Amino acid sequence: MRYGRTVNPAEHQLHYPQREPPATGTVVWLRPGLGWLRMPLPFALDHINLWLLDDELDGTRGWTVVDCGITSEATQAAWRQVFDSAFAGRPLLRVIATHFHPDHLGLAHWLCAGADGRGWAPRLWMSATEYAFGRFLTTADAQRAGESAAAHFARHGLSDADSLAKVRARGVGYFPKLVPAVPLVYRRIQDGDELAIGPHGAKRLWRATMGYGHSPEHVSLFCADERLLVAGDMVLPRISTNVSVWDSEPEANPLPRYLRSLDHHLMQPADTLVLPSHGLPFTGLHTRVAQQHAHHAARLEEVFAACAEPRSAAQIVPVLFRRELDLHQLTFALGEALAHLHALWYDGRVRRSLGADGIYCFAQA
Ligand SMILES: [Zn+2]
Repeated sequence: MRYGRTVNPAEHQLHYPQREPPATGTVVWLRPGLGWLRMPLPFALDHINLWLLDDELDGTRGWTVVDCGITSEATQAAWRQVFDSAFAGRPLLRVIATHFHPDHLGLAHWLCAGADGRGWAPRLWMSATEYAFGRFLTTADAQRAGESAAAHFARHGLSDADSLAKVRARGVGYFPKLVPAVPLVYRRIQDGDELAIGPHGAKRLWRATMGYGHSPEHVSLFCADERLLVAGDMVLPRISTNVSVWDSEPEANPLPRYLRSLDHHLMQPADTLVLPSHGLPFTGLHTRVAQQHAHHAARLEEVFAACAEPRSAAQIVPVLFRRELDLHQLTFALGEALAHLHALWYDGRVRRSLGADGIYCFAQA
């Protein structure tokens, strides 16, 4: 989740070699030892892709999975089907989470605890920042998230009491419901680490690249030998990656960091098969990076033009999203509007002022 749902108008420039996604609980084998799974999500964005890799650790043949799905009956049922139909009796050896968002990290606690007593003890692999965030959000402290989010959105112009009450209510327990626990032990992934994945004698190196702007320290994995990129949420073919300013870091400037992160992928071959967390595997990596740059450059100019008069982030939302939004979408849209305003603010193109009403406004400098 966490997406501004701007659908890519130039999706036809990308190529989809495999247009049939796996049915729930089944695996589509994209290459020998590389499986594609889909888990359901109860949101407008209704699925997440996971990647299953044939592996061997400490002399034991088994599986590595990238990302987990949320904690739900439906996801656990789908996993059980996969264990029975695709695992060939082998254990899960490690769980790699690209970032802390619930659809990616949700079931790590269950998988790492052996998934209904299957006797496995796979290790969770993550970047340190994502791991810490996920752990924090399952603590009692994080129960105040709703209050903090409501104050943040109010400062940026969300004024109607009903919406603010809903933001407050939703924040309580929202994350722990989807991610009730995070494993107490993990293995850290750092930028540039090379993970050797595969059976003995056929190991492939997957290089970790950190991505910023969508989440604190998102891990993508690139395999040069196979020209494969596990892109997580950083490069999606159909919808734009959500880049937002959230209440936990209200002065953040995530948009330039996101765009700079994307540029790392231009060093990878143009014909790399991209494995995104949402949508279909695709080729056209460099094209998609260029599309995202063009998309945000155009949005920045629209936001700048709207700031001819002082505007709050809430007043910018209709400039960026020309349709009705439900409350959930509105909070993401506000976060995105603020990300664009902050990019202009940090560039000195707009200035920020705090009104007597306690609301921040941005106007052309
Ligand atoms: Zn995400």
